[in-house]
Amino acid sequence: MSLTKVQHDLIQREYQETQNRNHRLLQQRKEEIFSSLPRYKKLSDEIASLSVKHARMLLDGQEDALDALKSEIAFLSAEKKKLLSSGGFSEDYLDPIYTCSACQDTGYIGSEKCRCLRQREIALLYEQSNIQELIERENFDTLSYTYYQGEDLKRFESAVAISKNFVAGFPKHYQNLFFYGTVGTGKSFLSGCVARELLAQGYSVIYFSANGLFEQLASYSFNTKMKESLYNFYKDLYNCDLVIIDDLGTEVTNSFVTSQLFGLLNERHLRQKATIISTNLGLEELRDRYSERVFSRITSNYSLCKLSGPDIRISKKLSGKLS
Ligand SMILES: [Zn+2]
Repeated sequence: MSLTKVQHDLIQREYQETQNRNHRLLQQRKEEIFSSLPRYKKLSDEIASLSVKHARMLLDGQEDALDALKSEIAFLSAEKKKLLSSGGFSEDYLDPIYTCSACQDTGYIGSEKCRCLRQREIALLYEQSNIQELIERENFDTLSYTYYQGEDLKRFESAVAISKNFVAGFPKHYQNLFFYGTVGTGKSFLSGCVARELLAQGYSVIYFSANGLFEQLASYSFNTKMKESLYNFYKDLYNCDLVIIDDLGTEVTNSFVTSQLFGLLNERHLRQKATIISTNLGLEELRDRYSERVFSRITSNYSLCKLSGPDIRISKKLSGKLS
């Protein structure tokens, strides 16, 4: 898939708006400082006129006087910073403000797309509204152990710890997660928690239900006019920072699905890119349904987290806590 012109323009506009907003904020800060610390304005004016002088000297080839001027400018700049902190402001209070410091809100680092731009493109391309909804409701802050007891509780606690470690080590420590167990035991919930943390850190996350993923792949694969879309879709699926496949096993499984699944897991493993899978299937069912090689990819490269217990969604309804 690639962006339409409308989507592309929308993103450009968003970056422009971010730059404008940060620019306005910096202007407001400057006015605030100039009125509360009048000496700061004087110092700034002095530095400005010295800089003009500096430029003129450079043009005139007066190399010998340059060093003295440079150190004078450095001295005044240091004084400005001191003045800020003595007035109770941080020293970088008037530095340029960037929402993404990596690309300085341009979307690009050199000719490479910045992570923030990839994240935005993926959000638009794959209409990740489902993940937005999921992570608003379900995240590490809303996590509750109330519905688990005994062995179920231990399993859940261990899965939470593994998920938190996954986030803490991301992306340096390459890891994959496989949540399995009966319905309503918190598998999608934990995927959502991880997604939320990584999205907040600016990583690109593609989230699909297994059904949606394979339907999309099939619609491109079996239509010769969609070759380019398929190529771009693969490129995103192979390269984005995290892919989440939710509810594996709820799709109609056939040889197309099996080979696509293996291809995806394999390519991401070769690229050392993380994947999270959740499923209601047991390990044996997984092997029987998707072949030995999918099974062995998962069991050898994924942290297997088994979850168990009564269906939380039902427990929540019964206790009247479902919002
Ligand atoms: Zn950026």
